[in-house]
Amino acid sequence: ARLGRITKAETTCNYCAVGCRFELYGKDGDVLGVRPADPEATPANDFSTCVKGKFGYDFVDSDDRLTTPLIREGDEFREASWEEAYDRIYEELSEIQREHGDDSVAVTSSSKCTNEENFLNQKFARQVLHTPHVDNCARLCHSSTVTGLKQTVGFGAMTNRINEDIGETDCYLITGSNTTEGHPVLATRIKQNVRDGADLFVFEPREIGMAEHATQYTRTKPGEDIAWLNGMVRHIIEEDLHDTEFIEERTKHFDDVKEKVEPFTPEKVEELSGVSPEELKNAAETIAKADTCIFGWAMGMTQHAHGTRNVLAITNLALVTGNLGKPGAGLSPFRGQNNVQGGGGDMGPAPHNLPGYQDPTDDEVADKFERVWGERPPQETGLRLPEQYEAMTDGEIRGMFIMGENPVLSEPDIREAEHAIQELDFLAVQDIFLTETAEFADVVLPAASAAEKYGTFTNTERRVQMVRPAVEPPGEAKTDLRILCDLAQRFGYDWDYTSPADVMDEISQLVPIYGGITYDRLESTPEGLQWPCEEEDDPGTPFLYEEEFNFDDGLARFVPADYAGPVEMPDEEFPLMLTSGRVLYHWHTGTMTRRTQVSMDHVPESFVTIHPEMAEQLGVKDDEYVRVTSRRGDIVVKADVHEMSDPGVVFIPMHFAQGAINELTQHELDPDSYIPEYKVTSVRIEPV
Ligand code: SF4
Repeated sequence: ARLGRITKAETTCNYCAVGCRFELYGKDGDVLGVRPADPEATPANDFSTCVKGKFGYDFVDSDDRLTTPLIREGDEFREASWEEAYDRIYEELSEIQREHGDDSVAVTSSSKCTNEENFLNQKFARQVLHTPHVDNCARLCHSSTVTGLKQTVGFGAMTNRINEDIGETDCYLITGSNTTEGHPVLATRIKQNVRDGADLFVFEPREIGMAEHATQYTRTKPGEDIAWLNGMVRHIIEEDLHDTEFIEERTKHFDDVKEKVEPFTPEKVEELSGVSPEELKNAAETIAKADTCIFGWAMGMTQHAHGTRNVLAITNLALVTGNLGKPGAGLSPFRGQNNVQGGGGDMGPAPHNLPGYQDPTDDEVADKFERVWGERPPQETGLRLPEQYEAMTDGEIRGMFIMGENPVLSEPDIREAEHAIQELDFLAVQDIFLTETAEFADVVLPAASAAEKYGTFTNTERRVQMVRPAVEPPGEAKTDLRILCDLAQRFGYDWDYTSPADVMDEISQLVPIYGGITYDRLESTPEGLQWPCEEEDDPGTPFLYEEEFNFDDGLARFVPADYAGPVEMPDEEFPLMLTSGRVLYHWHTGTMTRRTQVSMDHVPESFVTIHPEMAEQLGVKDDEYVRVTSRRGDIVVKADVHEMSDPGVVFIPMHFAQGAINELTQHELDPDSYIPEYKVTSVRIEPV
């Protein structure tokens, strides 16, 4: 609606996957502010937003926004027309493919973009470039969640709702999630419910904000979660507190897990993870006796070389206590980016999944896509993101197209990632800023931000919600959707989508879990629709597995979580354990929040949190600069002397280019999901 020159859009937050809804106001291209929307339209957040949602939109008007295509000439960029930029991308990628084959190019998609844009980006890779090498940042944050949940319950997604289930359960186990900083509005729901009497167990290496509200906060050793989770399952079975009816009627392979958890006695658990027998038993017994429990986690669980096994272990705990398929209970991976569930997962920009998690090697699935696309998608599976960087270093991948991602900061061991990118013959990046990655590009395309376009995001509870524009894109910037259509046309494909609604029509044709989702429905359903939503009259699915799990036999699977600890342990040369995470005021690689006043006012630069005892031992004072060194590299950051963890554990946030933590992290991968080990790195710290 337009009120004079002021524009109002009822839209969805572009930061975290809680998916808060609000009204965004704009005037003359500038974002004016945010106001709560109609409560009926805000099922995830009611009236609240966090500081990023409320004040974090001035990046939209930043002078750093890209406003015209850029083409590299030597060490410089020069401005170019869209036609020239498209021609250059077409010529360079075509030349590489002529010489080295279709598989010599790769495409990166982005969870910051809409579902429709991610759908088109994977279609651009598969139909236009004929390459199976398409992946996205979900590989780096929750791929282990998806891999683990697909094996055990069937869908790689949160099973329950935010308000009605997370907000009203009897008990929580939260681990690997600094919820107050990473998912603030969701944390508010939990705290409200705890004030009303719910139990909250927080298992974390750091005494984070949620610990203050917990029934029991338990300090764990970084990377040792399988031990205490298996220990809890063992204790519950030993005390005969397991839900036998649920296990018998709705699951299989219980005995496999029962046998595998046997060595995890309380004493063994304490030795491995630092969790005392009393804390282990108290938490396990309370969870088992509660009518309902929510198991919440984020990247502290997933970003390990054994991330998938962590997810199996927490799933076994939910299954053994019967906490699935009923209101107030469930497995709640707190997804990271605004649209990582939809854009990063459901839309299939992944080398092993077509949209809707459909198997590209399945002939029936390939037939279906061929009928709609007029061309069969590649049926072989492609390389996952970390494998793509290896293939770039080896010269097997020579051209790359990146939409909205910043791998030069987000990949582990970024010196290696930078080297891989420099080995490419051609790199095109489309983004809203000249990011650290775009600096390496041959062609840069200016894209519209979420405040400037239509589309949908799917939040962490599988809720598909509308995104609407409050302002126009700056200069010549275009939506990612428009750019992809123009590019496909330059490659000779007749992509004639006139709006995101057209793309959603194709999505609903091809993706059964989105089969009943249309723009007509979304425009008249302010609260959005939760998938699976398979038919036009299907109201969607608030919580999963009420009747059956997502397997042919309808039964959930217990899958044993074999023990594994950290890959790198402290030694004489690198005596400290470094872990990482988010801070409230910033977001991921910081491309948006490092250009947002409120974020920079509160946290202007990177830092390392050091325990006071360790700081004294190292001769370091609060606010002094220190050098942090790992086996991969070193960075200089400010010391933040604070008692949050054991003296041997230090913390650096993930949001900064100066003092970037991924100068230090390692390329060790989870063999199941290929997620890198970001969370435990051995380092030393010296004053500078
Ligand atoms: Fe946005 Fe997440 Fe904050 Fe909600 S909690 S306002 S979705 S950043």
